[in-house]
Amino acid sequence: MSSQNWIGGEWVTPNAGTIVIKNPSNLNEEVGVLHLSDASHVRQAEDAASTAFNSWSRQTGAVRASHLYKMAAALEVKLDDLAMIASKEMGKPITEMRGEVMRGVNLLRYYAAEGVRANGQVIPSSEADVLQFTKRTPLGVVGIITPWNFPVAIPIWKIAPALICGNTVIWKPAEFASLTASKMVEIFAAAGLPEGTLNLVIGKGSKIGDVLLEQVTLHAVSFTGSTATGQHVAEVCARRNIKYQTEMGGKNAAIVLNDANLDKTISMIISGGFRSAGQKCTATSRIIVENGIYDRFVEMLIKAMSSVKMGDSLDSSVYLGPVASESQHKSVMSYVNLAREQAEIVVEGGRSESINEGYYIRPLVAASVDVNHPLVQEEIFGPVATLLKASDFEEAISLCNRTVFGLSASLFTSDLSYAHRFLDEAQAGMVRVNQETAGVEYQAPFGGVKMSSSHSREQGQAALDFYSEIKTCAVSYA
Ligand code: NAD
Repeated sequence: MSSQNWIGGEWVTPNAGTIVIKNPSNLNEEVGVLHLSDASHVRQAEDAASTAFNSWSRQTGAVRASHLYKMAAALEVKLDDLAMIASKEMGKPITEMRGEVMRGVNLLRYYAAEGVRANGQVIPSSEADVLQFTKRTPLGVVGIITPWNFPVAIPIWKIAPALICGNTVIWKPAEFASLTASKMVEIFAAAGLPEGTLNLVIGKGSKIGDVLLEQVTLHAVSFTGSTATGQHVAEVCARRNIKYQTEMGGKNAAIVLNDANLDKTISMIISGGFRSAGQKCTATSRIIVENGIYDRFVEMLIKAMSSVKMGDSLDSSVYLGPVASESQHKSVMSYVNLAREQAEIVVEGGRSESINEGYYIRPLVAASVDVNHPLVQEEIFGPVATLLKASDFEEAISLCNRTVFGLSASLFTSDLSYAHRFLDEAQAGMVRVNQETAGVEYQAPFGGVKMSSSHSREQGQAALDFYSEIKTCAVSYA
């Protein structure tokens, strides 16, 4: 398979270089070739998106909705094909990947329905015979920059609300999710999405990402990725006064109190920490356990980890696959080696039968490190979690908040008063009791605080606020 750009309704193979993509589950298998774009392709996408805006923004919400419903239906038909390409391209296990594509289908349907929902308020005027009201209007051309770890759901949770609000889109996916992006856009194109409404430009962030941010007339930018890149995006957008949102890294904590139901808790902590090989921004990467159950927790964790199966992403029985790429492997392994040198290894799980040469990393839980240690403070973005002890709820919540990040946090307890204190005091955009840190539903707002986010929210109704402008209208009919 080869990647292609889709610009103004035309398929274009750019020629600014190629990258051969190998299957991270089996490095002997070439999955496809990426064709990289240069500045000229970004410019073409700008022309196409701004031309298409003139007609798309004038369509009724019902017409835009009909396109989103068709995209959803087409995606559902091709669910298995797209999931398989993504699993082979970035290593997410096929069962998880199918669930992710279905989430994309649901997101499209959710935002399609917004096309015919009320989009403003009537606000009583102080003057007689004046109708005062607000309405949402589209912004214009929106730049969408996405990471590789949710190659289908994250792009759709940006593209769908952007389109239903009447904007047109230039989408730059992550390099290591570009085959998936090409296939997804192929599905949308076949479903009749009008030319120029969605434009796909494939290439390196450092090259075309910067051209998009610095040179294109954009009316909003929605970015998800690392905190370092997100801060750069925010700086450029602030300088150019472009509306932006940045969803970035996390170092999510799960607190386990003495009264937690440990059977349920352990399985949610393993899932939060190691599904997708820990490559979720909401992954559980700090496990804070109250002293009274620490030993029992460790004993049960070690036992449960012995049945966690690691293997080829296309094997539907595996719990976790490899990490996504060579650079991911190198980066995560530097933390594994740090843990081996400086921490106590509580458990290194990941039972694997026969596996090919790939970017596999056994899921690991480390302990006995200071709270300021890089294993406790830095986003690892792999199957590595750190265990910390707390003497009581107060210390646990203070450890939970001792991070620059603030995306998601969980508490496991059967005490309602601690549950409510946690919901108030945990410094995170998503706070969850007796639920894993990952897995926020598509119809609910998603986003973080502190260095995890620029403080707006994605998904649910919150996305409509980002992708539209509120106009205040007044009509005198006296
Ligand atoms: P990344 O920051 O390396 O890349 C993200 C995107 O930005 C890619 O498309 C990349 O090509 C592009 N990019 C890179 N440099 C750029 C530049 N100078 N200008 C414009 N674009 C540029 O992140 P990644 O490795 O793809 O993803 C992993 C990160 O994403 C982790 O930190 C993870 O926590 C974060 N993430 C956050 C959320 C969230 O909602 N908070 C969700 C998923 C992933």
